[in-house]
Amino acid sequence: MTGLYWLNSGRSKVCSRLPIVSRSSHCSARMSSPIDDLCPLSPAYGDHAPAPPTQALRGDRRADVAIVGAGYTGLSTALHLAERGIRATVAEAKEIGWGASGRNFGQVVPYLKHGPAEVLAHFGREAGERLIEETGKGPDLVFGLIDKYAIDCALRRTGLIFAAHSDAGRAAIERRTEFWQARGAPVDMVTGADAHALIGSDYYDACALERRGGTINPLAYARGLAKAAIALGVEICTGSPVTSLARAGKEWHVTTPGGSVTADAVVLATNAYMTDRLWPGLRDSIIPVRLYQAVSRPLGENVRRTVLPQGQPLTDTRRLVSGVRLYADGRMHVSADGPAFDNSGDADLSKVARRLERIFPRVGPLDWVHRWAGWIAMTTDQYPRLHELAPGLWTGFGYSGRGIAHATMMGRDIAARVAGAVDATKLVFPMTQPRPSLVTRVAPPLIRSLVVYYRMRDAFDDARHRRARARS
Ligand SMILES: Cc1cc2nc3c(=O)[nH]c(=O)nc-3n(C[C@H](O)[C@H](O)[C@H](O)COP(=O)(O)OP(=O)(O)OC[C@H]3O[C@@H](n4cnc5c(N)ncnc54)[C@H](O)[C@@H]3O)c2cc1C
Repeated sequence: MTGLYWLNSGRSKVCSRLPIVSRSSHCSARMSSPIDDLCPLSPAYGDHAPAPPTQALRGDRRADVAIVGAGYTGLSTALHLAERGIRATVAEAKEIGWGASGRNFGQVVPYLKHGPAEVLAHFGREAGERLIEETGKGPDLVFGLIDKYAIDCALRRTGLIFAAHSDAGRAAIERRTEFWQARGAPVDMVTGADAHALIGSDYYDACALERRGGTINPLAYARGLAKAAIALGVEICTGSPVTSLARAGKEWHVTTPGGSVTADAVVLATNAYMTDRLWPGLRDSIIPVRLYQAVSRPLGENVRRTVLPQGQPLTDTRRLVSGVRLYADGRMHVSADGPAFDNSGDADLSKVARRLERIFPRVGPLDWVHRWAGWIAMTTDQYPRLHELAPGLWTGFGYSGRGIAHATMMGRDIAARVAGAVDATKLVFPMTQPRPSLVTRVAPPLIRSLVVYYRMRDAFDDARHRRARARS
């Protein structure tokens, strides 16, 4: 994920202690609706590989499974169903990858938001172990699909850099590295001059190099999944918002303005872009948060060779955004701070400039040619959710900013479950009942306060880090 390290670190446990409430609960705190967000997909991603031709749903049809939403969750479900010979129709309100799948930072990560000890404590040994092991293999699933279906999405398997910008951050990275090394994973701590050379900066004295991960063009990956699914017989209807969901006997009906699909099963794959319309109350399980991205003009030839010279993306242990990537053509891609709940908000690029000035002083002022935003679905405990809401009605969501691998895994596993090929107790993401929470309604003021607090803590840690560097 692009940063928002505070959401990774278990520091926001205040959320999980707040009370659970019934579906009818209401609070006056409101936020913009992600599905109404007009921010377009970025040419920074969209110019790479065209979307396969699709049309809006017209008329009534039957499918084995109807899927709502054409992001990674929906597309991976459709593709894995098709591989099993099960026919799916996908209805997407806008276009393929319109949601977070076409807007993310592109970093494919083999971790959950929490460390292994916390995962084991939360889920117990058996389910926790399965979750840790399988998320460790998440990037392999993504890269395997890219390989199998020849998806053209600028894949770089050069690994990921997680850098420490404080003593506590360094200790956390060391613990995680030791855990995975003990399991034989290709991850190393890199320190001192080696870290400076790997990052192209003497700002950080320690980082982990996680070789299981990599980067992709996320929109091109979504389009590639769609193309592969269509080639196996999946129907993808774009410009087709599902406006109602109903059950009659053993069948489900999903309706769009232009037609309907009758199916034995339905998968809601709408993540942060869900509304209360299709399954009232479900939206109270998540806190949608808007994240910001920007891409610059290419850096000059000489400077670009000095920044992240081996092609890994960089994130660090600060609580808010920290992601930096350098594309093969020399353009710099960053994640940026900005209003967390506002459809019309804009990235704070002056803050990005200050961050880059400290880490990569040779880069100088940058001309940001593309900027965009997208919504992630946070859950109160930052674990993804898998529910069978009613017989034959499935949903998977709540990746809390770590969805490239996890949503792809979720789709694979929902497909296996719909096909009856996996026991409910053996699913990677444990199947649970929805637990709408008061905190999702009161989240905006709460998170705004947390963000202000974390901005201050990041600034404080930054200043302390700079003083320590000046002394050494
Ligand atoms: C800025 C940003 C940076 C991120 N960085 C990373 C990263 O580096 N690494 C990582 O692993 N993850 C990252 N993520 C998270 C990741 O992108 C998401 O977790 C993942 O894409 C979720 O996929 P999804 O298919 O569940 O949802 P989405 O991709 O959001 O798709 C949901 C789809 O449902 C559609 N929809 C909603 N309602 C309806 C309806 N009624 N009818 C029909 N269609 C509907 C929407 O239009 C949308 O296309 C980032 C996210 C953002 C926003």
